[in-house]
Amino acid sequence: MNDSQTETHQTSPATRADLDPNIDFDAVVVGAGFGGMYMLYKLRELGFTARVYEAASDVGGTWYWNRYPGARCDVPSLQYSYQFSEKLQQEWKWTERFSSQPEILRYANHVADRFHLRQDIQFHTRVESAVYNAADETWTVSTDAGDRVTARFCIMATGCLSARNTPDFPGLENFRGERFHTGNWPRDGVNFAGKRVGVVGTGSTGIQAIPVIAEQAAHLFVFQRTAQYSVPARNAPIDAEEEARIKADYKGYRERNTRQPFGLDLLSQMSTINTSEVGEEGRRHHYKGCWEHGGQALMLAYADTGTDKAANETVSDFLKEKIQSVVNDSKVAEVLTPDHIYACKRPCLDTNYFEVYNRPNVTLVDCRSTGIEDITPTGVIVDGSEHEVDCLVFATGFDAMTGALNNIDIRGKGNRALKDKWVDGPRSYLGLSSAGFPNFFTMTGPGSPSVLANMIPALEQHANWIGDCLEYMRTRDLRTIEATLEAEDPWQIQVLQVADATLWNACDNWYTGSNVPGKPRVFMPYVDWVGYVEICKDVVRDNYKGFALR
Ligand code: NAP
Repeated sequence: MNDSQTETHQTSPATRADLDPNIDFDAVVVGAGFGGMYMLYKLRELGFTARVYEAASDVGGTWYWNRYPGARCDVPSLQYSYQFSEKLQQEWKWTERFSSQPEILRYANHVADRFHLRQDIQFHTRVESAVYNAADETWTVSTDAGDRVTARFCIMATGCLSARNTPDFPGLENFRGERFHTGNWPRDGVNFAGKRVGVVGTGSTGIQAIPVIAEQAAHLFVFQRTAQYSVPARNAPIDAEEEARIKADYKGYRERNTRQPFGLDLLSQMSTINTSEVGEEGRRHHYKGCWEHGGQALMLAYADTGTDKAANETVSDFLKEKIQSVVNDSKVAEVLTPDHIYACKRPCLDTNYFEVYNRPNVTLVDCRSTGIEDITPTGVIVDGSEHEVDCLVFATGFDAMTGALNNIDIRGKGNRALKDKWVDGPRSYLGLSSAGFPNFFTMTGPGSPSVLANMIPALEQHANWIGDCLEYMRTRDLRTIEATLEAEDPWQIQVLQVADATLWNACDNWYTGSNVPGKPRVFMPYVDWVGYVEICKDVVRDNYKGFALR
């Protein structure tokens, strides 16, 4: 790519590149988060016309919606950003090691401005259906704003964690106070001063929001069903020396990271030997170093931390001790101590999370045995006792990976609904394409590394793959592409086999869908990012082996 030609002057192609003059766009893209934004850029760069539909009023996706107090990324800023433009990555200056939501949203807006993306994005518009018309091999996309457009390709950039999960708590509709979901936070924020606040949920989101809300609220009740491990993020202003070192060869840095687990610069913190190869003292020393370093270092402290129960126990014991040493009240510390495998639920990073339980205005409510029994007009009942609150914050997570897709009526060949095909769990080849749905792509879809990779580079990898595929088809005058069942079925087996080799499939978590009542339990992301990138390249080298092209 020639930066000087494409970066500042990129606009929609003046004429459509598609052979068929009767359709509206070469591609419709659903979602203007980081995936949809770069997909649009890539399509335009290749000379395809595209329309992006976005339900929100602006770009940013997850960072648009999740404005809850304390929202912050847990991937270092210099890595959680686009790499497609050298100029962009050189110019943009992050201020903190782990960026806050407002800063990431500013970055998304900057990218949209810099590349004039908004001219092809229609905001305030939710896609309701996408229907494949076999006769003319096009997709008809309909929206809640009354649009009905046709396109050769339909690309879903709907996000992995975008369909909110608010459990059907008994009595919820009776609650008279204000209630919020962290994934749909009011733009103007919420003033909790003087209020009694209840937070339900202690995953990554709750753990970030709770310490901040505790500082504002008159009293905070935390309703915890499952205790979580959390490691201090150790956020800090960006290290100027590290920034200069990375920016001196940003391209090389990105390339090296692509060949590392999760697509992240982790090697300096990872040990390639097994836990048992080190004596207890050496192990504790290493864990202490990872703890002091902050971030996700402990997750990969040793080669077998994520694959061997006994090895995992050594790190989970270390983390349990930390909880007990921070929390003053031993009974509260006990309730806060998890009993599952570390990192089986997505590991959390925090700033002063466990410390919050030493505050006099914070009460931990253990709802493990009875659950939330009822929500009354004025409070929450757990184990027969009512906790009176003025407002409720649901940090209850998402219907991950498939939720946003299933919320759209997507119909492929023979009018078959995607959600019917996926009734027992998602089926795709590479998390990109599903048999029976020609010219339909899912960005970071189930069956791809997605949430088990650095998300922005993972989205770029998919957009590049899809863009190259469309270009391949155009130059060969091919009209349709779809995964074959012969490729899809073994891929699904491989997704599960790779997951089973880890401990991440061993507890209830949103990777498996088990956080949403009634959702089929299927491990959805593909665990091996490095292997996946190579497989995607091989498929292209083999002229899209595993796909039917016509
Ligand atoms: P989550 O990890 O799914 O956590 C949801 C919380 O709500 C859990 O504590 C869960 O308890 C609780 N909950 C759900 N249903 C409940 C019910 N019926 N009764 C009581 N409690 C209930 O969701 P999340 O915290 O929003 O995080 C989702 C993902 O978003 C993260 O794993 C991460 O990938 C991403 N994220 C990242 C960051 C970051 O970059 N730092 C920040 C926030 C989120 P159980 O555990 O018992 O189900």
